[in-house]
Amino acid sequence: MAQDTYWGSFDEISKYNIQLNYFERLWAAWYAYMQNDVLATGIMSFTMHELVYFGRSLPWIIVDAIPYFRKYKIQQHKIPTAYEQWQCAFLVLLSHFTVELPQIWLFHPMCQYFGLSTGVPFPSIYKMAFQIGVFFVMEDAWHYWMHRAMHWGPLYKNIHKIHHQYSAPFGLAAEYASPIEVMVLGLGTVSSPILFCAITKDLHILTMYLWIVFRLFQAIDAHSGYEFPWSLHHFLPFWAGAEHHDVHHERFIGNYASSFRWWDYFLDTEAGPEASKRRREAKLAKAKKVS
Ligand SMILES: [Zn+2]
Ligand SMILES: [Zn+2]
Repeated sequence: MAQDTYWGSFDEISKYNIQLNYFERLWAAWYAYMQNDVLATGIMSFTMHELVYFGRSLPWIIVDAIPYFRKYKIQQHKIPTAYEQWQCAFLVLLSHFTVELPQIWLFHPMCQYFGLSTGVPFPSIYKMAFQIGVFFVMEDAWHYWMHRAMHWGPLYKNIHKIHHQYSAPFGLAAEYASPIEVMVLGLGTVSSPILFCAITKDLHILTMYLWIVFRLFQAIDAHSGYEFPWSLHHFLPFWAGAEHHDVHHERFIGNYASSFRWWDYFLDTEAGPEASKRRREAKLAKAKKVS
């Protein structure tokens, strides 16, 4: 009887597992209550994605409506209208329900196949932080090459052009893209942990969730259109951030990576006036040497 409700399951689990912390009990109770792991993981993933995506976009919608923040806007004269934001949110939501929702049935079986654990206790915070750091590096490499490929004529025209509808991006526009693009680029986010787990045999699905939350934060913030004195790349110079991706939307070329600046730096695909100036100077120096 007690297990008919979620909190009934929670009480039951708490009674016999005093060694588990509060969050571990919440987690274990969810799986016990659902009695169906595929559904439990699926519902949790989908709900988490919606909450984080729209929850993280909301502060940026508010910032856009407050004139005080205008001085931090990168492309100052391009403030998205309420209509643009509604239209964008509607299309993103439509794609979540039609393209993403059917796929969540595959998520739990895939995790099981590759040996991700779903049980309690959770891994230590240090282990999770390290693994998430590795996923950031892996995803960034995938994103750089796939995004760069998307700028090749036919792929751009047929797939990636949709994402470039907004030359001055805003938070909600992070996932505004063709379903094919969402799948190709999303593969980097999902398969980095899967590949990691296939090799190390050591990954908890919670770490994967946290990774996806951070990756969503990164993508939405990179599209925010705002550059602050306290933006992360001022402290971590290799972090890409909004300044990096905003230029990509403005100029349609260069700055292909997602989280870090190193790929664009070393392969000389950085965008923006500073990078062009550096390139021009390098060319001049080379010409001087030859003459
Ligand atoms: Zn692009
Ligand atoms: Zn973008």
